[in-house]
Amino acid sequence: MSGEAGTTQAASDRLTQCLGCNGKIKVAAARFVACPLCGLTLVGAGADSGLPPLVAPRGGQDRCWEALARERRLPDREGATQVREARLLLVPFWLLDDASRRSVSRPGVVVSAADLTPVGLPPLAAGRARVAGLGVEPASRTGDAMGRLEDPSALDAAVVAATLPPDGAAAAAGARWRLVYYPVWSFHYVVYNKEHYHVVDAVTAQPVGPARRVRSRVAVWAAMIGLLGVFLALQPLVGAAAAVPAWGVSLAAFRLTLLRQRAV
Ligand SMILES: [Zn+2]
Repeated sequence: MSGEAGTTQAASDRLTQCLGCNGKIKVAAARFVACPLCGLTLVGAGADSGLPPLVAPRGGQDRCWEALARERRLPDREGATQVREARLLLVPFWLLDDASRRSVSRPGVVVSAADLTPVGLPPLAAGRARVAGLGVEPASRTGDAMGRLEDPSALDAAVVAATLPPDGAAAAAGARWRLVYYPVWSFHYVVYNKEHYHVVDAVTAQPVGPARRVRSRVAVWAAMIGLLGVFLALQPLVGAAAAVPAWGVSLAAFRLTLLRQRAV
């Protein structure tokens, strides 16, 4: 029986190139395969020129959803927040492979190869080289950073087709654009009947783009320190008894403004 399976597999094996290590390889025709030379997981469909590698997803659906719910402060009351759909997507990116500038420490050039704005993933372009929360650049810098999957055939992910060229940014002599796939969890959810789409990095389990809260948190602290200044300035004039409620009210008002901005 195993001999039979082996024969079937050998018949569908094909000679191709791994775009991770550039090695000539012979692999089964499957959705995802492991390169026998470098061990990277490759997307088996499409490209005649070779099979592009993918960065191995590490953050599971539950962990990524919890990170998003925490960061968006989604209400956890019964029925307030409902996940309509959660999908693991492999998103294509163009990576500038420049042998003359290759370095583990120097950031590489990465641009989006598909527009995923509608599901909450801002594009990476020549003029926008970084999106908060998205770790595609450090994770695709070297093969080792991309990670390897034990069993590529067990990967349950949708591959997003590469539809955008590498942004017109010409590659210098000796450099070329290389396709890599990066995993994100795409969540479609409803909060009090309002629909939202957000993407969470499936390697670091960090919410991507506008969902990030880091800047807001900095803003909250800056505002609190500012308001404390107002309190200290007012205190000798009107006395602590009057200044404390004033401080509390302005803090609450500020928090409301901030939450409203975040909700947009
Ligand atoms: Zn390889």
